[in-house]
Amino acid sequence: MSSNYDVKYIDGLPLFYKNMLTFFDELKNLYSYDGMQDMVLFNNREILVGGKPVFIKEWFDRNILSIQDLLNSNGQLLSFQEFINKYDCNTNFLQFYQVISAIPKYLVTKARNTEPPENELYTRNNFLFPLDAYTQIQLEKAKTRDFYCLLNRKIHTVSQTGPMKWNSITRLDENAWEKIFTSLKNICKETKLKEFQFKLIHRIVVTKKELHRYGIKADDECLYCGEKDSIEHTFLNCQFVKIFVNSVIDWFNAANNSKFAPTIEEKLFGIISGPYEKEILKKFNYTILFMKYYIYTSKMHNQAIHLSVFVDRVLFKYRIEKFDC
Ligand SMILES: [Zn+2]
Repeated sequence: MSSNYDVKYIDGLPLFYKNMLTFFDELKNLYSYDGMQDMVLFNNREILVGGKPVFIKEWFDRNILSIQDLLNSNGQLLSFQEFINKYDCNTNFLQFYQVISAIPKYLVTKARNTEPPENELYTRNNFLFPLDAYTQIQLEKAKTRDFYCLLNRKIHTVSQTGPMKWNSITRLDENAWEKIFTSLKNICKETKLKEFQFKLIHRIVVTKKELHRYGIKADDECLYCGEKDSIEHTFLNCQFVKIFVNSVIDWFNAANNSKFAPTIEEKLFGIISGPYEKEILKKFNYTILFMKYYIYTSKMHNQAIHLSVFVDRVLFKYRIEKFDC
């Protein structure tokens, strides 16, 4: 994770890990991470041989890890003979030359003028990942909750990428965002659902638009209507989803003798204020959240969305959340 990876080059990686790496990228951006990752030779998106990042196990085992490791004392790239003398490798000239010529000039210049990244970064026993000068993650011990805390710590700054992008189609002021973030804590008991809401706020849920961009899906068409998929399309604009959302709201109002008529913003993030009784509001917001999760997972698994299926599931969930059914 300390390397300058790009998920699109990591072949055969299960979707879960791709998502995880994408998510981790977001985290690194939030913390303005600069671990000199572009100095790392392997899995570096700037150093490609045959269109793919390099990984040479023999070099890795000999601690040849950064561009600096390929420079001589004058700051020039090693010749093949210097390389062999220094590292005693079985690497042949062709392989050596491919890597050397794949390193962009500007990275060689940068390497010449900077200290090599600290080698402990990559040793297998060290799982401490420094996000910034004050924050480290214990990679082998970190649980979802810890990542969640790290993200949480950053969310009260106003110019978050997720909320900023949402602001182009929603009208939520800083105060409203603050309430939405705070409501995350109590919105439900299930961590999985909380995380989903959190990712939605930060726009890091994956739709076919993103899957297509990463080369995982052949097209970016919505499963239900065939229009271009996206986060907005999945939760707001798809005609099938619009009908479904309205039927869920009608069902809820009929079952609870209520008159909720949420705005676009409230459909996305829940109702944060209004003349409602606390319990029924909580139940409504939970239902809206679970509805989005149901839409999202159904779509991911190529399944249709049905009110009757949703109602069965949400009634079951009410019991876990201890709402009246
Ligand atoms: Zn659609």
